[in-house]
Amino acid sequence: MAESTKKSKYEELEKKLSYASKNIWSEADKKTVDAIHAYAELYKAFLDRSKSERLTVQWLVGGAEKRGYRKLSKVTKVKPGDLIYALNRDKNIVLIKVGSKPIQEGINFIVAHADAPRLDLKQIPLVEDTEIALLKTHYYGGVKKYQWLNIPLALTGIVVTKDEKRVEVSIGFEDDDPVFVIPDLLPHLAKKAQGEKKSGEFIQGETLNLIFGTVPVKDEKVKEKVKLAVLQRLNEQYGIVEEDFISAELQAVPAVKPRDAGIDRAVIAGYGHDDRVSTFAAVTALFDVEKIERTAVAFIVDKEEIGSDGPTGAKSLFIFNTIGEIIEKTTGECTDSTLRRAMERSTCISADVNAGINPMYKSVHDEKNAAKMSHGVVITKYTGHGGKYMANDADAELVGKIRNLFNRNGIFWQYGGMGKIDEGGGGTIAKYFAFYNASVIDCGIPVIGMHSPYELISKADLYYSYRGYRVFLEQC
Ligand code: MN
Ligand code: MN
Repeated sequence: MAESTKKSKYEELEKKLSYASKNIWSEADKKTVDAIHAYAELYKAFLDRSKSERLTVQWLVGGAEKRGYRKLSKVTKVKPGDLIYALNRDKNIVLIKVGSKPIQEGINFIVAHADAPRLDLKQIPLVEDTEIALLKTHYYGGVKKYQWLNIPLALTGIVVTKDEKRVEVSIGFEDDDPVFVIPDLLPHLAKKAQGEKKSGEFIQGETLNLIFGTVPVKDEKVKEKVKLAVLQRLNEQYGIVEEDFISAELQAVPAVKPRDAGIDRAVIAGYGHDDRVSTFAAVTALFDVEKIERTAVAFIVDKEEIGSDGPTGAKSLFIFNTIGEIIEKTTGECTDSTLRRAMERSTCISADVNAGINPMYKSVHDEKNAAKMSHGVVITKYTGHGGKYMANDADAELVGKIRNLFNRNGIFWQYGGMGKIDEGGGGTIAKYFAFYNASVIDCGIPVIGMHSPYELISKADLYYSYRGYRVFLEQC
């Protein structure tokens, strides 16, 4: 007798009553799989060019202008359907598609960050030691210092000279460029200097120095011959002198290209997925939205990795002022209460990555409440640490609204929080938008190996973050 394919009564009941997220690759048809891979190619091209917040913003301005977005400062009158962008110190960009409803009735925001952990150069970085010129760094954000040793690093950023000219520096991204390396200690001699120390202590911040040059000038009268030779080269190539480093922002970032990872090419390895992956998904979602009622905004912030302070961080009034300017240019005036009301009637997705389960370190997660790679974009009610300290804690009504929005539109999504209770923790910009009394929820994709120089994400999750953000902008 053939086995019955009919589900038993309790199997059916289980399907009806239980929650389980699904593996996208098991569910998706051929057309969807093709769309996932095609979108991933666009993202890889973006990520390869966007290795700093400045470069990210530059790329986004190019994309926006190509699509007809106009700079807010050059626009005098704003009307429904307009495409506008505003810049802040070349590190923030706000992209706006004006909806048919008045802005005062609220905005759909997606906020992501373009800064990523890295090694900034110190303001007086150049030293010579044992006939080697070194560049001293100060790490930025939550880095595990040992991960940055003996990997190829590129230098990117700007130098402001004594006549306040801005010189752009970019060395290490092209195949024939030199790269910079911080050398680790050989294992043969590391027994005491490293082996007997805790992992957080065996690499000191002050040892994260790049080897910058080794050829001296030929002059016995000069004390630091290699340093001088390097300064001479910099002066010839960039017109800069040592004092100019003081007014520079230069960062060392991994000189690695995003690559497909795994035999099935379903994963992307790359530097800076946190949070350029949400940046890309948010902005491309905005580019692709069609008719909208509520004004849609993608806002890219800086300084998230170090606490969101500073004028380009999420705590700055830049977004508040920009929305005020939009209202003013729409209606002819903008009172304080109109602006406040527009902000508090808004809904915001805090688009940031989540900790995906790493099979080698499962124990740090509560598996049932953790994000799995390839299971879709992650909804997170709260982040924070300890007893939910510092959390935005989205209200149940908002979580319900987003969950149902995604379900109605066939978006693969999953629930995920940040690790086991008391295992550690982390935050996002959600709470800084909640400050305006806006409704804010965290929603981004799982990353494995987060904050490392070569993070991993699933192409399927990436695609469904884009799709999810788009339905949010169109329908929320
Ligand atoms: Mn992040
Ligand atoms: Mn981060």
